[in-house]
Amino acid sequence: MSVAAWHRLGVADLGRAFARGEASSVDVTQHLLARIERHAALGAFLARDAELALAAAREADARRARGDATPLTGVPIAHKDIFVTRDWPSTAGSKMLDGYRSPFDATVVARLAAAGAVTLGKLNCDEFAMGSANENSAFGVVRNPWDAARVPGGSSGGSAAAVAARLLPAATGTDTGGSIRQPASFCGVTGIKPTYGTCSRYGMIAFASSLDQAGPMARSAEDCALLLSAMSGFDERDSTSAQRPPQDFHALMRAPRDGATPSRPLAGLRVGLPREFFPPGLAADVAAAVRAALAEFERLGATLVDVSLPRTELSIPVYYIIAPAEASSNLSRFDGVRYGHRAAAYDDLLDMYKRTRAEGFGAEVKRRIMIGTYVLSHGYYDAYYLQAQKLRRMIADDFRQCFEQCDVIAGPVAPTVAWPLGAQGDDPVKAYLADIFTLPASLAGLPGMSVPAGFGEGGMPVGLQLIGNYFAEGTLLHAAYAFQQATDFHLREPREASS
Ligand code: GLN
Repeated sequence: MSVAAWHRLGVADLGRAFARGEASSVDVTQHLLARIERHAALGAFLARDAELALAAAREADARRARGDATPLTGVPIAHKDIFVTRDWPSTAGSKMLDGYRSPFDATVVARLAAAGAVTLGKLNCDEFAMGSANENSAFGVVRNPWDAARVPGGSSGGSAAAVAARLLPAATGTDTGGSIRQPASFCGVTGIKPTYGTCSRYGMIAFASSLDQAGPMARSAEDCALLLSAMSGFDERDSTSAQRPPQDFHALMRAPRDGATPSRPLAGLRVGLPREFFPPGLAADVAAAVRAALAEFERLGATLVDVSLPRTELSIPVYYIIAPAEASSNLSRFDGVRYGHRAAAYDDLLDMYKRTRAEGFGAEVKRRIMIGTYVLSHGYYDAYYLQAQKLRRMIADDFRQCFEQCDVIAGPVAPTVAWPLGAQGDDPVKAYLADIFTLPASLAGLPGMSVPAGFGEGGMPVGLQLIGNYFAEGTLLHAAYAFQQATDFHLREPREASS
């Protein structure tokens, strides 16, 4: 393969090219650094460091020469800027943390580095991961590589745009209410949010701790499986980390199902379609792409079954009470004393807190802190927070019942394709409503995936969402892998990728 095409290779393909000696990590890293520079107008990167990246690439090449490479050794990646890193600034997309340096690496960052992945830098995101369009970043918007006038989705917008534009084969993201799945869908890449507790939250700047979960974003299910195997696993430094043995998601992804044949790899797989995921308000282009993808699942041997998640609509008020409540508590640590920004002038301690927080936080973050503080306050706790917690349990119970009738649940990721930059004006509720299909799995703590499934209005990508039972990432990845063996949506590239 010619040097000029290395950015076309995904994680697994790069690993194979390295193993065959066709490319070195240093060569590929240099090639990608030049592309990142050329595509700076996308706004995907917040920090990069060519020297650090090349040093890691040289180390990876040496490790491979010594014969102890993993499938990720030498593969360039970058991290959503919500993970703290020792070698790069960590901002969470906020002025509050502008210039902040962490004394340690997040567990996910450390594990990927230990596997030999080469970090190229940090990726733009919505401030403290609050948003659905990456328009809430204090450091500028990210543009969708398929159409620079549209949003890439959020909050992991930089990760999705960088992978879609072929600046990187893969990136990390985090998903609290959809922030891996929705930008993956908007940018035509593959992303998986594993079961809550699968990836350590240690060193992930907290938004809503009972919902936050890390995951990979890449071109294919196979590439996601390779990353997830390295990122996941028990971590004693996160008290909600699941105590399970390490998993080889790549092997799980490839393991044939009982009764499967080469032409019907999904024989016997029951795919549940919640009727609430196909409401009249679903955009016709999204509905058509999702239906066509489901027909492909049937051809691959799966059976479609009708199921119901009756509280789907309630996920929106429930999430927008619980997430801000937790955020208001988590963000109280940004007080001008312990981290990042401090107001330059103030009268006394209270005034310093007030000015620091007024200057440091953006409008959406302030809105959530106010909502969260309100729903947790003495007079309103029972009416809002407690009620939301009860409904959260009922939403999880609805899924439990569904999984008695099916093995995976499928539907759209979002009600529309990526919208134009600025389209939502000053109305945050518009964006909240667009989270309707991703919030239920988040509230239940279930794994969810976005798989490129077709194209809609304006040639924009449409993602298919797959939701699995607890710790059934293997089933999700297997289904997505079979779909990707039979289709090429995940291989289509925006024009941005060829320049
Ligand atoms: N769009 C949702 C929000 O704004 C989800 C964000 C996320 O998953 N981090 O809260």
